[in-house]
Amino acid sequence: MISENALKVLYRLRQSGYQAYLVGGCVRDLLLGREPKDFDVVTDAHPDEVRAVFRNCRLIGRRFRLAHVHFGSEIIEVATFRALTHGDEDDRLTGGGGRILRDNVYGTIEEDAWRRDFAVNALYYNIKDFSVVDYVGGMDDHRAGVLRLIGDPETRYREDPVRMLRAIRFAVKLGFTLHRSCSELIPGLAYLLEEIPPARLHEEIIKLFLGAYAVQTFEQLRHYHLFGALFPATERCLAQESEGFPLVFLIKALESTDRRLQEGKSVTPYFLFAALLWEPVRVKAGRLIASGVDELPAFQSASAEVVTRQIQRTAIPRAISQPMREIWLLQPRFERMKGSRPFRLLTHPWFRAAYDFLVLRAEAGEADAAVATWWTLFQTAGEQQKDMARDGLNYRQAGKGVRTRRRRTGRSGKQVKSTQDE
Ligand code: ATP
Ligand code: MG
Repeated sequence: MISENALKVLYRLRQSGYQAYLVGGCVRDLLLGREPKDFDVVTDAHPDEVRAVFRNCRLIGRRFRLAHVHFGSEIIEVATFRALTHGDEDDRLTGGGGRILRDNVYGTIEEDAWRRDFAVNALYYNIKDFSVVDYVGGMDDHRAGVLRLIGDPETRYREDPVRMLRAIRFAVKLGFTLHRSCSELIPGLAYLLEEIPPARLHEEIIKLFLGAYAVQTFEQLRHYHLFGALFPATERCLAQESEGFPLVFLIKALESTDRRLQEGKSVTPYFLFAALLWEPVRVKAGRLIASGVDELPAFQSASAEVVTRQIQRTAIPRAISQPMREIWLLQPRFERMKGSRPFRLLTHPWFRAAYDFLVLRAEAGEADAAVATWWTLFQTAGEQQKDMARDGLNYRQAGKGVRTRRRRTGRSGKQVKSTQDE
């Protein structure tokens, strides 16, 4: 399962007199019999020396220089062994509170192992004799299915609080148990994520929620009080009503994301973000409407406010935030089914995504299931579209009405097949 190009890099380094190992996630995954996502190589050769060995090589990174060896679309990353200057030992390397801001000191393979996050991520596959090199007890943990930070857990979380998110992500993805010494600290340290640059948190969120284990990951993040550090406004809504439709809706959205990824289909991050932030938008818009603001401007201003707050915590690139807003702003327009409006909505570029979103809301019991059913019919009604637009929810087809049941409790929506399932 090792990629041919990774092997080429390992052998070439070795032939040139350097040490060469596979390291990190790929070794961990190979030992589980899983195909790795990508292959990371480490060596004692310095970046300039690596470049001298490979013609198809580019050096990247200012903070820490890495070599990228290009083979068509596959890139093998080659890093030089790095040492870590721990905690407060060296003020030049750490900001306040022991957070590592810079760690660009070359070291030995053993030093390289100790600076890594989890023991199972610090295993080295040696191309020289096909052995796995382990300085930190990673093999024992791997056999036992345990995820454990190397060294003192609190120090390691303080150095880089993102390790708390990585802990959840790996535990869920690998089916490993997070060691108690590492799990019990998380709720108390979750606030440290507030110091992390929004762009880095965005990248981590993508990995957390688009890795095909979003439901379990979400539940674990909430359990360890990490979700609130990433999505404070959403967490406040969920905390107020933990059994109601906000939670059901989110779980359904994440389930559909996971299902699609497991079936090898693509998912769109904007749909995911639209779901993650919908409840605060809905609540704020509802408040504005109650105070007399019209529906559309209410949703506009609620959307703007929620996005503005959220991007102070986690970045949301424009390519995601724009479609996300479109999806939100189209939701109230689905309620308007009469006259020319539904025909116009049908041709809106974001109709499809917004309709899928409406169906999820209806399934969660938050939107009127009859409205969702009406739109499902309307899309394929052909000649009957005019009648539907005349009668709205009172439309009757062959004696059967669209409105099968009125939403009184607001909780039990009729199941409507989602176009996301097609
Ligand atoms: P994935 O399957 O998600 O790629 P991975 O373990 O390869 O998992 P990467 O983020 O690609 O994760 O990092 C590669 C390796 O670099 C890790 O296995 C770990 O040894 C080290 N590493 C990455 N991030 C950190 C961190 N924040 N602190 C310490 N070591 C890290
Ligand atoms: Mg990796």
